[in-house]
Amino acid sequence: MITTGQKIAIQRTDSSRLSSTNLNDIKFGRVFSDHMLVMDYQDGAWQPPTIMPFGDLHMSPAALVLHYSQTIFEGLKAYKSADGSVNLFRPQANITRMNHSAKRLCMPQIPEELFLEALTTLVGLDRGWIPEGDGAALYIRPFMFASDEYIGVKPSDGYRFIIITCPVRGYYNEPVRVKIETTYSRAFPGGTGETKCGGNYAGGLYPAKLGQDAGYHQLIWTDGLTHQYIEESGTMNVFFNIDGKLITPALDGTILRGVTRDSIIRIAKDEGFPVEERKVSVEEVVTAAREKRLISAFGAGTAATIAHIASIAHGDEVFELPAVGERKLAERIGTVLDGIRRGHLNDKYGWVVRV
Ligand SMILES: *Cc1c(COP(=O)(O)O)cnc(C)c1O
Repeated sequence: MITTGQKIAIQRTDSSRLSSTNLNDIKFGRVFSDHMLVMDYQDGAWQPPTIMPFGDLHMSPAALVLHYSQTIFEGLKAYKSADGSVNLFRPQANITRMNHSAKRLCMPQIPEELFLEALTTLVGLDRGWIPEGDGAALYIRPFMFASDEYIGVKPSDGYRFIIITCPVRGYYNEPVRVKIETTYSRAFPGGTGETKCGGNYAGGLYPAKLGQDAGYHQLIWTDGLTHQYIEESGTMNVFFNIDGKLITPALDGTILRGVTRDSIIRIAKDEGFPVEERKVSVEEVVTAAREKRLISAFGAGTAATIAHIASIAHGDEVFELPAVGERKLAERIGTVLDGIRRGHLNDKYGWVVRV
């Protein structure tokens, strides 16, 4: 059983913004709930965490993170179920992944139990901020950054770990038009592609902007060495339904280990759909699209869950995919996933943690 509020000091806001916020009309990532959790790492140890009113931070302009991007983050959601209870979806997976990212970025490990207690306590306190309805949830953003006042290149001695949360509604509702990127790379062998570190995203902005200027919502990233194998779709993992088989690139160190990806694979297998995790070549996808054997394609991630791909461009060719209404496999998986998260389906996997 999770015991809350024992180690975590709570300074409640005396001016909640909840009653002046319209939870039915919110833009993704722009509205933040009343509280945040802050915990500092100093003198080789984590100091006691505090939940305090959401607000600005004071930091030195020489803080290491501002110069060399020693920073990592996570993203997960809390859902309100029909009976009013609050469910976190697979928080343990995010905790494990954040510590994996921390190791790669030379940052301290966060004690798992404390991390989980931080999540449940913060979400419990701001539960009134969780919107209800289709696609609605509380998006939770834990992150950690190097706080030393020093501009030499080295791992910081001090860090801040913070959790903020935002109420969100559906995200990426429209099916997206994507382009297979064969010039720029998101990740490369031996790099940081498998971690959620800030630099990965900064490096993707320019190629994504070029893609947007050319009329595409997202890029399909390919491997950094040959550009012949598909890796991810924007900031999501990617799945293809070719001839009724669900195919996704295998995790090889350059691909983010998505919790949604893993959940989709488990559900699809249990629903009896064949799933293949392996190298997926651009050639295979393009050939399947040309021969109309590419039944559907979608991105998978916490923010949007399943982001349908409407069309795929490769070089001068653009392939239009079947209408979203015909995509039974993706729809079925999405329904099961959502049902588990919101508590209307039996959570046979033990994925949900009640707050
Ligand atoms: C976060 C992320 C994903 C999806 O991970 P989830 O755990 O499913 O949210 C996929 N790819 C990249 C690059 C990401 O940053």
